[in-house]
Amino acid sequence: MTARYGGIEAGGTKFVCCVGAGPDDIEAETRFPTTTPEETLGRAVAFFRGHGTDLAAVGVACFGPVDLDPASATYGHITTTPKPGWAWTDVVGTLRAELGVPVGFDTDVNGAALAEVRWGAGRGRDPFVYLTVGTGVGGGAIVNGAPLHGLVHPEMGHVRLPHDRGRDPFPGSCPFHGDCLEGLASGPALEQRWGRPAQALGPDHPAWALEAEYLGGLLADLVCVLSPQRIVLGGGVMAGPGLYARVRREMVRLLAGYVASPAILERSDDLVVPPGLGERSGRLGAMALAEAALTSTG
Ligand code: ZN
Repeated sequence: MTARYGGIEAGGTKFVCCVGAGPDDIEAETRFPTTTPEETLGRAVAFFRGHGTDLAAVGVACFGPVDLDPASATYGHITTTPKPGWAWTDVVGTLRAELGVPVGFDTDVNGAALAEVRWGAGRGRDPFVYLTVGTGVGGGAIVNGAPLHGLVHPEMGHVRLPHDRGRDPFPGSCPFHGDCLEGLASGPALEQRWGRPAQALGPDHPAWALEAEYLGGLLADLVCVLSPQRIVLGGGVMAGPGLYARVRREMVRLLAGYVASPAILERSDDLVVPPGLGERSGRLGAMALAEAALTSTG
């Protein structure tokens, strides 16, 4: 019999919970707003209990920052989030105690990256990078088949890029860094800079050339650092007019012929692609983390 898993896409504004055996076999799904930790995790536990006692494992693809070091006293906690009430919430401990099953836990973007490698656009591509550009900018990487952690976990949205203040005087919207990439290129940054939300900016608006330059810069950096075999770019801002083609062009321009791979010089439309799982990569990421947790505990 196929194992059944529980998945939680734990976002700062909403939780999505699902139960099933895989992407083509989701039995039930629910969503509710992220309120207090007690109420929100309580609703998730109640949902899983209402769907049988035979769940093999639960996975959480979580907003962060989070502690992913199994040797740490605060492993499985959300750490320094500015979200009121959620700093130092023990997500893994709470779910383990309430449900009595292995709990897989990672960042939302590492979860999505794992799901894309397992079932979507990342199959057979390693290293693989998943990026989302929306309310924030975040990225996860799969290297040698596993999510990349390291000291904490990568924060790809907060890299620094050249910022020509003569051409773009916007100081940036990141509360920590001002004009890091997220501060320059997230949905809220676009809205603050141009006075209108991204979806209200027309196809000829100068916003898009600037956006493509910043995102192309991030991609060029990722090519230099991780040498990924594929990069998925998702999130609401990527619905911008012709943005995929513009970002690929900027990445290639900024690399300036130095990284001599045909994947960059001739096939950038195969290197940089939209998510294969579309909107589902978050919750399927949680399912993939549950599956991985079961495998790792035998
Ligand atoms: Zn930042």
